[in-house]
Amino acid sequence: MTRNAQTPNANADTNADGAAASLKASVLVEALPYIRRFAGKTVVVKYGGNALAGTSDHDALALFAEDIVLMRLVGMRPIVVHGGGPQISALMARLGKEPEFLDGLRITDAETVDIARMVLKGQVNPQLVAAINVHGRFAVGISGVDAGLIRATARDEKLGFVGDVTQINPEVIHGLIDDEFIPVIATIGSDETGQAYNINADTVAGAIAEAIGAEKLVYLTDIEGLRRDVADATSLIRQATADELDELVAEGIIAGGMIPKVASCTHAVRNGVHRAHILDGRIAHVLLLEVFTDAGIGTMVMQHRDEPTLDQPLEGALS
Ligand code: ADP
Ligand code: MG
Repeated sequence: MTRNAQTPNANADTNADGAAASLKASVLVEALPYIRRFAGKTVVVKYGGNALAGTSDHDALALFAEDIVLMRLVGMRPIVVHGGGPQISALMARLGKEPEFLDGLRITDAETVDIARMVLKGQVNPQLVAAINVHGRFAVGISGVDAGLIRATARDEKLGFVGDVTQINPEVIHGLIDDEFIPVIATIGSDETGQAYNINADTVAGAIAEAIGAEKLVYLTDIEGLRRDVADATSLIRQATADELDELVAEGIIAGGMIPKVASCTHAVRNGVHRAHILDGRIAHVLLLEVFTDAGIGTMVMQHRDEPTLDQPLEGALS
């Protein structure tokens, strides 16, 4: 059969294939300047326990793992910090223990901190590590106890073993990323006596991003970004400066689980982290959409608005 003998249908298929191929090519080309810009740059990604909501755990994990591996393979240095609040509550329920909260913080007695440690280091952490390592030998799971990474102290006697970060000792992270591994960090810390504390993963992600001078700090959560009105899905804030976020906090617009994220974002961008992002972890490949496309997605936080929009590729930045 010669080319001229193709049926009209075959031509239509060929055209459709051609359009799909050209779209794929343009997506890859659009990513090029970002790949160059972010090569060698460190990105701390906090994966919230709630980001798993809205899709089956397995799918969400597999998609997240693909994004992290792709970032790593194009030369970025991703670091994953994870929480596991819903998973801790689930094991407590199985053990017949009622979770109790005070001002949004889990009251953590000796038994509860044991449960938190089992869930974070024994369940959530190896799930993330395994999902990433489906694609190669990349991820290494650690907790804040390893090499004294997270030093903590009790926040408030009434809360039990809920810790505040006193110090980040990032040597173990530097070691792992220099060896091209992807650290996956469970947010258990310890004090100087070796007592374990459960620490808010949002706070840890920000503290680690600052300690290692990360380019970006990214929160994957269960909402499309910061809203000016929590009840109004159309009120997404696309960009905000640290000062603007301080005002939103003062006005009470930032509530609940968003408070530690926003506090960490503002602190981080004022302390050397270039950009912070709050993204919807339920959107497939949301990390790739943020990092490698012109449009970006979710809420982006920067120190000052009058900087050039550095998430746009710089003209002539290819040299
Ligand atoms: P994660 O597991 O990601 O830490 P959280 O439930 O702790 O999730 O925090 C995200 C939640 O913060 C959102 O689902 C939303 O209900 C709440 N929230 C409070 N204030 C805001 C706001 N201004 N914009 C968006 N979300 C907000
Ligand atoms: Mg939270």
